Parts: sequence; C-alpha cells; structure tokens
Amino acid sequence: MGAPCQSDAVGHQGDPSPTVGAVETDWAGTYVFRAPVVRPTDVEAVRTAVREATHVRALGTRHTFNGLAESPGVLLDLTALPDDVQVRDDGTVSVTAETTYGALARELHRHGRGLHNLGSLPHISVGGAVATGTHGSGDALGVLATAVREVELVDADGELRTVRRDDADGAGLLVALGSVGVVVRLVLETQPTYEVRQDVYRDLSLAAVVEDPAAVTGAGTSVSVFTRWDGRADAWVKTRLPADVPDTLLGARRDPVSRDGITDEIQGNVTEQGGAPGPWHERLPHFRHDATPSNGDEIQSEFFVDRADAGAAIAAVAALGDRIREHLVVSELRTVAGDELWLSAAHGRDSLAVHFTWRKTAAARDDALPLVEDALREFRARPHWGKAHHLGAAELERVVPRLAEARALFDRWDPRGVFSSPGLVGLGVRSS
Ligand SMILES: Cc1cc2nc3c(=O)[nH]c(=O)nc-3n(C[C@H](O)[C@H](O)[C@H](O)COP(=O)(O)OP(=O)(O)OC[C@H]3O[C@@H](n4cnc5c(N)ncnc54)[C@H](O)[C@@H]3O)c2cc1C
Repeated sequence: MGAPCQSDAVGHQGDPSPTVGAVETDWAGTYVFRAPVVRPTDVEAVRTAVREATHVRALGTRHTFNGLAESPGVLLDLTALPDDVQVRDDGTVSVTAETTYGALARELHRHGRGLHNLGSLPHISVGGAVATGTHGSGDALGVLATAVREVELVDADGELRTVRRDDADGAGLLVALGSVGVVVRLVLETQPTYEVRQDVYRDLSLAAVVEDPAAVTGAGTSVSVFTRWDGRADAWVKTRLPADVPDTLLGARRDPVSRDGITDEIQGNVTEQGGAPGPWHERLPHFRHDATPSNGDEIQSEFFVDRADAGAAIAAVAALGDRIREHLVVSELRTVAGDELWLSAAHGRDSLAVHFTWRKTAAARDDALPLVEDALREFRARPHWGKAHHLGAAELERVVPRLAEARALFDRWDPRGVFSSPGLVGLGVRSS
C-alpha cells in the first residue's frame, strides 16, 4: 500500500524512551507503527527529542492511511502539546501545529474571521494537514497549505527556524511530508467570517457529470460529487452567501431535507444540509467535529488529475464500476485550484480529485485499488500523499514535476537524514 508501508523500521539506541505496552496505529487502524512513540508536552521537549534522536518524525492526529509518518527512530506524537491560537490584527492567525482545524475554526469564528476552505473533517491537525497537501473542494480554492504564510519548525539540529512562503525555499518546504523538521507553529491567512448553505442534489446522472463536469463542480463555492459508480451520483453544493441557488442541477432536484448521512454506511455524523445558512466551519466540512467522521472501518485513496481531463478520467473509473463496487464504501469527486507548492498534488494545474473510501480489506487494497491506478495512469494522476496507493519513486517522478527538486531541497535541509525514512526514500522524497 504505497512505499511507506513497506518500510523496515527499527528503533535506535539513545532515542528517548518509548511508550511501553501500547500498539500505536493510524486513526483507521490500517497501519501499525513500529517506531516507539513519545509525547512531548512543550516545544523544548520536542527540540531535546530531535537533538537526541538518530531518526525522528512527527505524528499529528494520524488520519493518514499509509504509515507516511513511520520513522526508523522515534515518533513524536505532538497531540500532548498545548493548543494555542492567536488571532492577529494583520488578518493572520498564529496556531500551534497540533491544533485541529475544528478548534482553530471555532476560535477564528469567535473573532469574526474565517479560512478559505476546510477538508471534509475538522478533526485533523493543522500541521499534519499542511504537511500532506490536504484539501477541501472548490474550483477556485487551493489546498489548505495555500493559506500558510509561514511555519516555525524544529530542524535536524533541534534549532527553531522560520520558513516564509515567500522565502526562496518556501514553496518547496510547506508541503514537505514531515521530511525537513517538526513544525510547531504556523501562521495562516484569514478573511472575515462568512456564511455558507449546503444543498444536496440527489440522483444526478453520472453520464451528465462526465459530459459537463464543470457545470457540476462550478455549481457552488465548494462541490463534492458522491457516487458508487452505478450511473448515479449526489452532488453536495456548498454556496457562500449571499447567493441564489437553483432548484435543479443537470436535471437533479435539490433536496429540501437535511439527511444526516452520505450512504447507508456513513450516517449520523454530517453537517447540516437542506439549505440552512450557517457559519463557514459548520458547512464546509462534511463531518461534524462532535462525531466520528466517515465510516472509520476503511481505507482511503485519492488521485489528482488535470481538470481538463475531468470527464475522461471520471469515465475511465466509471468503466471499472462493476469490478470495484463491492470493495467500495463510496467515491467522491472534488476540485482544487492549482498552486505553486512543489509537492502539492495540485501543483501547477487546476485539478479534479477522485477519492475512494474502500472497505478495510486486503482485496480492496490489493485488487481494486490497482485497477484504479492503472485506469488513471494515462492522466498522470498524482496520489494524495496521506492516502493508500502503490506508486513508487519511478512513477512519482513521472507525475510529480518538482519531486527531484524537492528531494534535493530536503536533503540540503537535513543532510543527516534525521527526518528521513525508508518509506520516504521509496517515494523518491528523500535520497537516503
Ligand atoms: C475520515 C477522513 C477524512 C479525510 N478527509 C480528507 C479531506 O477531505 N481532504 C484531504 O486532503 N485529506 C483528507 N483526509 C486525509 C487527512 O486529512 C490527511 O492525511 C492529513 O495529513 C491528516 O493530518 P494528520 O495530522 O492526521 O496527519 P498525520 O497522519 O499525523 O501525519 C501525516 C504526515 O504529516 C507529518 N506531520 C504531521 N504533523 C507534523 C508536524 N507538526 N510537523 C511536520 N510534519 C508533520 C507526519 O510526519 C506524516 O508524514 C481524511 C482522512 C480521514 C481519516
């Protein structure tokens, strides 16, 4: 399941004491970490742990699906650090890396501020989400890392360094998969808080989406299309207010009722629909912060293609529908604006992201997922770094245009490979 899972991690003598007796996994239980996990409670402890470790990597809220954080040394679980959110007069917010987007959003809204977008769940840490190029949806909305103005990180020598987006290395270092340091604080751009309504257009024809994807993805500020590749789809349209919304979308009718779920298997945890206006942070994510997001018993994968290829890419996956459906909980189509960040999956191209929530089975991972990867290869599909995939360095080199430059940059920042791992080497993100 992607190179990180194949890493052969071994702890090193001299590393800080591990947590004893606990099995440490990712959120969905798809990956068991081999490295011992320590939980620093302040930044000084992070610096000490980095200085004393031969190899070390950061762990956020563990919502990745491929062991990306795995280290041949120790893992620093940052969730015991104190959250701190400082809303500043210059329109930015300074936030500690382990803070969740949910906690950040509540505080911003209290101060009359908002973010440009959110992912499907508010439970993820800001540092972890930025590190992997996490995104929401919206034709004009970039990945969450595009809001980052600067980060403060603990480098391989245990020193605190600030990286600004406008620095020479900035575009290479913001989405870095944890491979240049432990980010402890970020400064994000904000905007005045705003209201959003969420409407669901049910039983849309998937053929109509293939025919005119832009008509659907452009129907609101942030649009998600859910399908099980059975010819039908639901479009979740989140519209920034004030705005009028149409009663129909490519023949599908707007549902006036808020139904608390996505499929039969994902129920009781979604944000309010039915057109009721609400604050941005209670409509842009699909999942409520007070509930378990998604299904929980799952594997996720996602691939980014050029939006110019959206119709053809959707058709290519739709053609696999009968072969992959039994392994699938649901798929989701979203759009992301192109950006300049080297390892963002939307680097340099406005993108369609094709997502799969799989059943947590070996067959889904080993049989169904490769079918999708084969079908999307001709579109130079880039995987979400934090989700399951089988792409190795050679294929990633082909589809991620700045990978070699990023690798050289990361090697320069961390010449001893303190933040490297066999998994990152397998992805071509680090050279050793
Ligand atoms: C239910 C569910 C829904 C999801 N929805 C979306 C979605 O809508 N959009 C999307 O793009 N993704 C989505 N994801 C994936 C998830 O957002 C990303 O995997 C994200 O990276 C999770 O952040 P985290 O803090 O849990 O990261 P972790 O899994 O803890 O870490 C991920 C990577 O970031 C590094 N890292 C973490 N914190 C730091 C830090 N402080 N400094 C340096 N490196 C760090 C780690 O070393 C690791 O390499 C979803 C996942 C789940 C489980």
